[in-house]
Amino acid sequence: MKIFNTLTRNVEEFVPNVEGKVSMYTCGPTVYHFAHIGNLRSYIMEDVLEKTFRYLGYDVKRVMNITDVGHLSSDADTGEDKMLKGARREHKTVMEIAKYYTDAFFADCEKLNIKRPDVVEPATNCISEFIHMIEVLLQKGYAYQAGENIYFDTSKLKDYYVFSSQSEKELMVGVRDDVEEDTNKRNKSDFVLWFTKSKFDNQELKWESPWGVGYPGWHIECSCISMKHLGEFMDIHCGGVDNIFPHHTNEIAQSEAYVGHKWCNYWFHVHHLNDKSGKMSKSKGEFLTVSLLTEKGYHPLVYRMFCLQSHYRKPLEFSYEVMDNVAAAYQKLVKKIAELKDEGSIDETGFAEYDAKFKDAIGNDLNTSMAITVVYDVLRSGLNDKTKRALIESFDKVLSLDLLNAPVEEEEVDEELTQYVLARIEERKEAKKEKNFQRADEIRNELLSKGIAIEDTREGVRWRKLS
Ligand code: AMP
Ligand code: ZN
Repeated sequence: MKIFNTLTRNVEEFVPNVEGKVSMYTCGPTVYHFAHIGNLRSYIMEDVLEKTFRYLGYDVKRVMNITDVGHLSSDADTGEDKMLKGARREHKTVMEIAKYYTDAFFADCEKLNIKRPDVVEPATNCISEFIHMIEVLLQKGYAYQAGENIYFDTSKLKDYYVFSSQSEKELMVGVRDDVEEDTNKRNKSDFVLWFTKSKFDNQELKWESPWGVGYPGWHIECSCISMKHLGEFMDIHCGGVDNIFPHHTNEIAQSEAYVGHKWCNYWFHVHHLNDKSGKMSKSKGEFLTVSLLTEKGYHPLVYRMFCLQSHYRKPLEFSYEVMDNVAAAYQKLVKKIAELKDEGSIDETGFAEYDAKFKDAIGNDLNTSMAITVVYDVLRSGLNDKTKRALIESFDKVLSLDLLNAPVEEEEVDEELTQYVLARIEERKEAKKEKNFQRADEIRNELLSKGIAIEDTREGVRWRKLS
């Protein structure tokens, strides 16, 4: 298995600490709102990663935290706790918000066939572990107390910016919102391990600690929760690219200061899903959810296929035009598969040949679009139906697109009509670009006369047949 490692910026052969076993950690959601489909792109690709390891025969233990405290509106420790923001927005308590959005997150995951990690641990379950880690960091001289907060002292490390080839300025993209200067910090890059009451009086959830009543910083939770369940050595840690800095940089700093040796060997980061105005984010307030896609008539697995068709290390722009194409391709694919007869016997040689092709694709830094191409290759091959079915069933353990049991829509997808409408939409876009609004209106009317209504949205043009 070859995988790109953000730590070395190279595609490397994956070698786990213990032969045949993989310890894997995923930064979980901050549960103050619904997950948007950008967040879910990261979780879909991490799910494919986990399933690929399993497919290749590894015994995987995967842990995920739930961030229900400490993630402030700027990743650089300023602003207020996102959970508090969510609670205020909905006139509920923080714990009510956490429960509601944690359940909503796993319901979305289920719709997208994202497997639940083996361990899921909310941050608020582990306060005593956080306090213990912070005490050790203080004893070892890696942390200091200032203004009643506890900070990690990044100057104590030889290499704080471990994700090296990125400049400090580049890394700051992850730091959103305001970045107000905290005068308690000894160094600009120091970060908070524990906040006390003195700084944030309005924090709803607070705990006793040796440094006063307060609450943990965001980064400490992932170091503690991963070590609690996976021990001092971890194979692979995952997240979206915005987690690289400061979150993962800080996790490495405090974890390695705590254990005194290298902590995690591979770092897997999924690039962002963007909409027309840039990165999709919860704090922007306007974002797409799985429910919204369903309301607009898309099966959630069409979105999974949309994600699998592009590489996880490339930014991906969401548009309804592409979703329409994927929806049509998905229907055509499952229909073809449904026609395969469950008769005859498996051709073992043929099976092995195509299975090896699939493993080559998926094991090559998770080339998911190539893996989907192998499904088409199988369908086109001269293998008997029984072997084709067995192969596709096997590949679907990783792809999880319900290829053998997806409901086949009664209504034929009219491929010709879809392509005609998409071409007219493209033509209208060009006309608008050239400020030829008369032509743009003509195209809209032409489509209307054929019973097709179009709607302009932030994510591109949507079309539907008028009933
Ligand atoms: P959060 O709930 O904000 O803590 O984010 C949950 C996960 O989604 C993290 O791994 C983020 O890095 C990831 N993420 C956030 N925004 C996007 C996006 N637009 N595209 C892909 N992943 C994202
Ligand atoms: Zn994390």
